[in-house]
Amino acid sequence: MARHLITSAIPYINGIKHLGNLVGSQLPADLFARYQRGRGHEVLFLCATDEHGTPAELAAAQAGKPVAEFCAEMHETQAEIARGFRLSFDHFGRSSSPQNHRLTQAFAARLDEAGLIEERVETQIYSKADGRYLPDRYIEGTCPNCGFESARGDQCDNCTKQLDPVDLINPRSVISGSTDLEPRETKHLYLKQSGMRGQLSEWIDGKTDWPILTTSIAKKWLNDGDGLQDRGITRDLDWGIPVKKGENEWPGMEGKVFYVWFDAPIEYIACAQEWVDAGKGADWERWWRTDLGADDVRYTQFMGKDNVPFHTLSFPATIFGSGEPWKLVDYIKSFNYLNYDGGQFSTSRGRGVFMDQALEVLPADYWRWWLLSHAPESSDAEFTWENFQQSVNKDLADVLGNFVSRVTKFCRSKFGEEVPAGGAYGAREEQLIADLERRVRAYEGHMDAIEVRKAAAELRAIWVAGNEYLQDAAPWASFKSDPEAAAMQIRLALNLIRLYAVLSAPFIPDASAQLMEAMRSDDDAWPGDVAQALTTLPVGHGFSVPDVTFRKITDEEREDWQTRFAGKRSA
Ligand SMILES: [Zn+2]
Repeated sequence: MARHLITSAIPYINGIKHLGNLVGSQLPADLFARYQRGRGHEVLFLCATDEHGTPAELAAAQAGKPVAEFCAEMHETQAEIARGFRLSFDHFGRSSSPQNHRLTQAFAARLDEAGLIEERVETQIYSKADGRYLPDRYIEGTCPNCGFESARGDQCDNCTKQLDPVDLINPRSVISGSTDLEPRETKHLYLKQSGMRGQLSEWIDGKTDWPILTTSIAKKWLNDGDGLQDRGITRDLDWGIPVKKGENEWPGMEGKVFYVWFDAPIEYIACAQEWVDAGKGADWERWWRTDLGADDVRYTQFMGKDNVPFHTLSFPATIFGSGEPWKLVDYIKSFNYLNYDGGQFSTSRGRGVFMDQALEVLPADYWRWWLLSHAPESSDAEFTWENFQQSVNKDLADVLGNFVSRVTKFCRSKFGEEVPAGGAYGAREEQLIADLERRVRAYEGHMDAIEVRKAAAELRAIWVAGNEYLQDAAPWASFKSDPEAAAMQIRLALNLIRLYAVLSAPFIPDASAQLMEAMRSDDDAWPGDVAQALTTLPVGHGFSVPDVTFRKITDEEREDWQTRFAGKRSA
């Protein structure tokens, strides 16, 4: 049994995420976690809300609530939606937790002891109109690298260069639009990442099995221009983790907090502590400390491509710099963007489908199937309602749903609600089993490699194989001339339904549970040998005809949803 530590990039607290966010991290991470559990491996699957920084403060102010209260409520909202999508986190933590406060402060102390922290007096932008320093993305201006006019203070969305607000040309406050900005001197801590460039570079170079999307972004930041830059890890804000040196005050840094991008990845570790403190687990260190049992853990991270620099460089720099035996990531699966119907999803303009709205329209499995089978892996992908309708109606309703319905209803009418006796496999059945054996092994290969689209295509092919068999064997015809053959065919097909439920569970967990219940089976063992797996339900085993597994989407619904989600989300 292998041990898999799996984390999804942690969603920011300030609002409900759209489907593009979901498919870029949490959903494929859940697919992988469910698959590895299905294979019988030990899994710790963690996610959390990312709660610090200016956007949380501003969203709270807009909602008229204290920021801590706002974050607590939004965390609960996001947790509820995650449950709705059946995201099977072992723990859904919070980066504002006391555990993360302590751990972040402890990391900072270690980095300081190692000589990797430097105090620098620097000039930051203060907005008199807003009465505050304007960090990061709350200043917009022209990118010094590419000339893009709406570059944010932390990163240019056009060329993805990480920026400092003072780098921007013609800066303005995003909050008030004011250009009455004044540079003021303030002291901050810098993590001397530049000195770790060689170590990070060597580490990345060793990751020859990583997706090119991941390593190319990392190498770009290591090597382009002046190479990896030192990084400011503190901010002049009220909301965040107070700058302390372990448990001690940090002279001169009173009233400042750690930068959200410093504490957020540390939450991956703190989240495991929260998991233990919540009484869900016994030992977090055996997942995270290589000196305390984590040396045989395989750690996989899931994220959108915009998060790659922080996970390939910043967080590893924190871990390397600490000099402590923390578990480093073994594999980073990164995703391109999902676009929406000819444009981008837009949180600010309410364009596209948001996670809460999606669940109001259809159950989670419909969305899970479409999103995963169209995951933006090798390039950006696009959601269109036509494609969604087609995919749901064809793959889920016509192929899988129809198979289940035909087999169970035919059996009930001719043999009753139990697995029928009689008959023996012929060439057609041997052929099907050989085909399935090959396809199931291919499916495993794609799932192990986290090739999400390929895995979905193989699973669909496995469903199609059953349909084609049924069409070809035609038990409704053979029943008249050779009822024993029809009984054998239906016995095989009923077992196929259980096999489908087991194989499909990582993609469509609710439908799988429904099919297992209909087949009255709790044997969800992964099929080692397909022929054997297809004898799990013995002759005489009772079943029931399930309700419609997947319904079709009508043209009218599709048009209605197209209009509803075109923009300006209603409150
Ligand atoms: Zn740029």
